[in-house]
Amino acid sequence: MLEVIPQLAFDDNYIWLLRWQGVAACVVVDPGDEGPVFAYCQEHDLQLSTILITHKHGDHTGGVAELKRRWPRAVVYGPAHEPVATVDRKLAAGDKLMLEALRLELEVMDVPGHTEGHIAYHGGNLLFCGDTLFAGGCGRVFSGSFEQLSDSLRQIASLPPETQVYCAHEYTLANLGFAKWVEPENPALLARIRQEQEKRARGLPTVPSSLALELATNPFLRTDQPVVIQAAEAWAGRTLSGHREVFKALRQWKDSDYD
Ligand code: ZN
Ligand code: FE
Repeated sequence: MLEVIPQLAFDDNYIWLLRWQGVAACVVVDPGDEGPVFAYCQEHDLQLSTILITHKHGDHTGGVAELKRRWPRAVVYGPAHEPVATVDRKLAAGDKLMLEALRLELEVMDVPGHTEGHIAYHGGNLLFCGDTLFAGGCGRVFSGSFEQLSDSLRQIASLPPETQVYCAHEYTLANLGFAKWVEPENPALLARIRQEQEKRARGLPTVPSSLALELATNPFLRTDQPVVIQAAEAWAGRTLSGHREVFKALRQWKDSDYD
């Protein structure tokens, strides 16, 4: 059976470690720090075979060099359209990779916006989306554009609703606080806030999330909902038309007024 295990790094990063019970080879996604991966692999007698990178930021790539030193034959996959010096095999939309040790095939999606060349990995109902979609929110626009991020989130929204969303940070409660500014009366959102608060109180991660839950509660995936459009227009002080305009207003609203 495939297991996907969160390794907490820094304050709020998740490095996802994928393994198949009884198989010695494992895979990690976005190892910003080598420490947690070393510790887990040592404790469970695992060898790292593959590293998957979603984008260039240091909190997602900082551990790669040390991991390669320990496991020189590990193959590092990463985005073709942005600079990550440690990547062995560059990937772009439509590329497929078969992870033999996990009996899992992943397909690459181009999801620019947070950065200019951000990619995501999708397969077997799993989505590793880095800093593009978060539970209850989305990444900030750094070296990409608002239009790109809006389009990337639309692309993710069209995946099967049962898709499990493995994002790279534990930002959920803060994100849901902003979501409540946008939709103070969304019953699914209010129920989710209670559930996620309970998980955090018990020290549990709130991720993975499901795409279905995101579609019901995450304002950045709800840019076609009248209540969300109305709230974005009220903040912007003008009429907004289309996903991109509503998305940009929401993202700027959160950046300037919330956090
Ligand atoms: Zn990032
Ligand atoms: Fe990050």
